[in-house]
Amino acid sequence: MVPKTTNGPGGFHLLAKPSGSTCNINCTYCFYLSKESLYPDEKHRMSDATLEAYLKQLLESHRMPQVTVAWQGGEPTLMKLDFFRRSVELVEKHRRPGQTVQHTFQTNGLLLDDQWCDFFKQHGFLVGLSVDGPREIHDAYRLDRRGQGTFDRVMAGWKCLRDHQVDFNILCTVNAANQRQGRAVYRFFRDELGAKWVQFIPVIERATQQTLEVANRGWSQQPGRQRLLYTQTGDLVTERTVGGEQYGRFLVDVFEEWVRHDVGEVFVQLFDVTLEAYFGRHLLCIHAPTCGLGPALEYNGDVYSCDHFVEPRYKLGNIHETHLLDLVMAPEQRKFGQDKRDKLTAQCRSCEVQALCNGGCPKDRFALSRDGEPGQNYLCAGLELFFKHTRPAMQQMGRLLQQRRPPSEVMEWVAVEDQRLGPYRLCPCGSGRKFRFCHGDNAPRNTRDPPNADSAKRQQARMSPAQPQPDAVASGRNASDSPD
Ligand code: SF4
Ligand code: SF4
Repeated sequence: MVPKTTNGPGGFHLLAKPSGSTCNINCTYCFYLSKESLYPDEKHRMSDATLEAYLKQLLESHRMPQVTVAWQGGEPTLMKLDFFRRSVELVEKHRRPGQTVQHTFQTNGLLLDDQWCDFFKQHGFLVGLSVDGPREIHDAYRLDRRGQGTFDRVMAGWKCLRDHQVDFNILCTVNAANQRQGRAVYRFFRDELGAKWVQFIPVIERATQQTLEVANRGWSQQPGRQRLLYTQTGDLVTERTVGGEQYGRFLVDVFEEWVRHDVGEVFVQLFDVTLEAYFGRHLLCIHAPTCGLGPALEYNGDVYSCDHFVEPRYKLGNIHETHLLDLVMAPEQRKFGQDKRDKLTAQCRSCEVQALCNGGCPKDRFALSRDGEPGQNYLCAGLELFFKHTRPAMQQMGRLLQQRRPPSEVMEWVAVEDQRLGPYRLCPCGSGRKFRFCHGDNAPRNTRDPPNADSAKRQQARMSPAQPQPDAVASGRNASDSPD
């Protein structure tokens, strides 16, 4: 099959779901579990023919030399290792000279063992591991099919990744259970897991008056229970959903820790893409002016507009009938992406952080604006808070970059400001506590990280220039852009 499109984009970021929505655990907030009902009576496993058609078309579609092959689910480890060995083989078979391929893989970590981790290491996979925080937070919603917490098994998977020195990032959802624990969650990833790349994703589960009660019970199939197919409809949210403003407070809480200690050492996706946005570069679809280059591929070759819009009215077609590039460039998909800009509310169009935020993801635009206009982002209060709060430090990092100096020097600038303003002012994070006892020196720290014991490490961090993230972490829709 040859694509009809001759003027496609340089590339795009597709999320492939080789086992569809099938998962070996039962996270309460995972609405993707409900997508099983799109394909009733079928075994959700990608065939070899679909795998080869997909990889061949993906590689053919890219004009830029870097291509990301991103696996997600459901839980992709359910496909077994031989499937991914074959995928690497097929990439080598169809890769054009000069094309480089980054493999990414989002997993809940339960099935990871030495064989998996050897394979990831050997082929340079970037693995996204889903963890929501320390045990009591993680186990609030990330449950197995018996309703038991999965923390210990995820930690076994993490140890395996660490022991095999596999590059990994942590994907953490921000939800009702951890929304007030930003700093504790972040410190856990940094201090206990040694994470260098962290990504936060807000949990937003929409519902209507009719579906709310069922939605609150979760999205998995359970005997005798009504089953809903999750769609992006309704202006109510489940009880697991993060608060709109609280999402911003969570991010600010993390930022205040990061900007004092970790710039250039730990990469938080939203912080990186925000800094890039100050230079007019939009690396994440959610805060880009337009989108539409992040389609999702189901196990049978069906392609949808986006991972968040796997529902019948957003199905673009099937790669066995239409080339992937033609599906991505289809008029309805171009419109899907342009609507992100064309349907901004008046409040967004006049917002002082519009150039950074761009109204956020269309899936979250189900609230009313201040003027009562429909289509405002549910997270608006939090997004506005985050972008305004981080502006002085971001601008300082931008100036440092323009002077060809490492952005990590911002930590010295923040330290001088802290000294000037004194320890007993209200903490800038907005907690209402005194700075000294909140993000200052006397803040309660991780038990393995007593007060001030880490100053040598932090000083070292100040000397390290910020490193670019791997493409798959920094670019748009990626291996870990939605809960697996
Ligand atoms: S902005 Fe939202 S709808 Fe658009 S591609 Fe990204 S996740 Fe999908
Ligand atoms: S912060 Fe709110 S008003 Fe401003 S662009 Fe984002 S969603 Fe729109």
